[in-house]
Amino acid sequence: MLLKIDMHVHSCFSEDSLITPEELVFYAKKRGLDGVAVTDHDNLQGPLKIAAETDFLIIPGIEVGSSDGHVLGLNVKELIPPRLSATETVTRIHDAGGIAVACHPIGLFKGGLGRRTNSSFDAVEVINSSAIPFSYAVNQSMKIASRLGKPRVAGSDAHYGPEIGCAYTIVDAEPDANDVVKAVCRGLCKPFGNSIPWTIRLKKILAANRRRL
Ligand SMILES: [Zn+2]
Ligand SMILES: [Zn+2]
Repeated sequence: MLLKIDMHVHSCFSEDSLITPEELVFYAKKRGLDGVAVTDHDNLQGPLKIAAETDFLIIPGIEVGSSDGHVLGLNVKELIPPRLSATETVTRIHDAGGIAVACHPIGLFKGGLGRRTNSSFDAVEVINSSAIPFSYAVNQSMKIASRLGKPRVAGSDAHYGPEIGCAYTIVDAEPDANDVVKAVCRGLCKPFGNSIPWTIRLKKILAANRRRL
């Protein structure tokens, strides 16, 4: 079946995200998603807690700060150490039973892999709704995926509830985390989505300021 999945969302267990477990499921359903990959920075508390508390499809993941740039591990339930090389990080993700995605390889201020994206990855995140400048980042990331011959995925990189679903991946799989990542590896997926609208970016800044008061 065709599933609509946002492959890159941060819960409030990432220090820079405002999204509580309840909001994550609420906004995902509101946006008509079938599932969400929860990918916090070097932390697995969020996806494991949320997956245990809901029937909604949660793909447990992690965004690893490798020494070469950010790497997404999907279907990972154990911590992958940060600051290893990209290739070593991919090996650790595979050993943990997950797949490795080169997230936002291009874009300013994002810590992307750029030219260090290599053939050890299983997929390339060609659409990241938070990436700036958006169209340039999409075009260049598509080129990297083509050069490496890798499947393409998309995610919002949401850190605020209303950002969830701004980008998503259609995956031909059963609603099960193992099956979804296998389908991505086989290329049974297609990326969709847009940049986060400026009105929502502004609301996020206001919400973050309110939280600090
Ligand atoms: Zn990142
Ligand atoms: Zn991220």
